[in-house]
Amino acid sequence: GDDALAVIGLSLAYRVRGRDREVLHDVTFRVRRGEAYGLVGESGCGKSTVALAALAYLPRNGKIKAGRISIAGREVSSLAADDLRAMRARTVSMVYQDPSRALNPSLTIGRQVSEAFELAGASRPDAYAQALDMLRRVRIAAPERVMTCYPHQLSGGMQQRVVIAMALASKPALLILDEPTTGLDATVEAEVLDLVAKLREESGTAVLFISHNLAVIGRMCSRVGVLYAGRLVEEGSTEDVFGAPRHPYTVGLLRCLPKAGRSKDTERLDTIAGALPPLGAAVAGCVFAARCRLADDRCRRETPPPHRFGAEHGPQMARCHYHEQAGSLPRAGSDPVL
Ligand code: ATP
Ligand code: MG
Repeated sequence: GDDALAVIGLSLAYRVRGRDREVLHDVTFRVRRGEAYGLVGESGCGKSTVALAALAYLPRNGKIKAGRISIAGREVSSLAADDLRAMRARTVSMVYQDPSRALNPSLTIGRQVSEAFELAGASRPDAYAQALDMLRRVRIAAPERVMTCYPHQLSGGMQQRVVIAMALASKPALLILDEPTTGLDATVEAEVLDLVAKLREESGTAVLFISHNLAVIGRMCSRVGVLYAGRLVEEGSTEDVFGAPRHPYTVGLLRCLPKAGRSKDTERLDTIAGALPPLGAAVAGCVFAARCRLADDRCRRETPPPHRFGAEHGPQMARCHYHEQAGSLPRAGSDPVL
């Protein structure tokens, strides 16, 4: 296992009112060591579910139906409780959208960051010194003072830097960031993203970067996977997928990209006409057919296999019967779909 993360044929369901609703269908991707991989797709497509499954943090009603997940060569589902705890403390870290969720409101920043270093194996006095140093690395001004603060005394941007500092304490092989900058204003977001990019270069940590924001993924990641209704519909180098998309859904997402300067709440990718199929609905043929301008009877009947081809910057995959035409879809204009 040379990959930081390998998700192979993952199918997963949430049990709701006695019925299994499948949310991930045969999802396969790998994040190589030291690589930054982006996972994009609109709200509800299953991005966070992938991250939670990787860390074995699924809610009680979440069940893996098929497939497997390995982190740094070790299969997550086969780990005993102790090994799982050790893996979460040393090998993989996760940063969520809301930093206050990751911080304990009743402990000082100094105690919490030190604790992260203790969990990674440092002695108490060493942990304090390392915590202070890490706060400097995430560019927190006056770190001695911040060490004595409680979370509520810090801004959202500062809190997220603290969470990133804690996540990096163990020098993890893999860092999972799930919409880490969504609650932050644009300037602070740019600073936090620069910080993650710089720390990644320094430490060689692999990153799984989850976002609905394609601009952010384009800036941060060398490869990208596009998730639609729990299926990986396209994958490849960021340059190829964004420059020459081969799935009509990716084409639609790229055309929804906001113009620079628009306010945050119009950045949501909700401008592709139609909606995700209801959770757990049985779908014949291509899952995107109902929203796709290229779709014909074949698409509504036959599930497209993953078509693979060599693109300019590495292998690319698209699950579309008409992947050759997808990139040259005419602009929608007043057309209701795409
Ligand atoms: P967002 O961009 O809004 O964060 P997401 O891509 O991360 O969305 P998930 O949170 O993975 O999506 O959710 C995938 C689907 O599973 C959604 O339809 C969601 O409502 C559903 N879901 C999530 N958690 C549960 C749960 N515990 N029980 C039942 N359904 C759930
Ligand atoms: Mg999510």
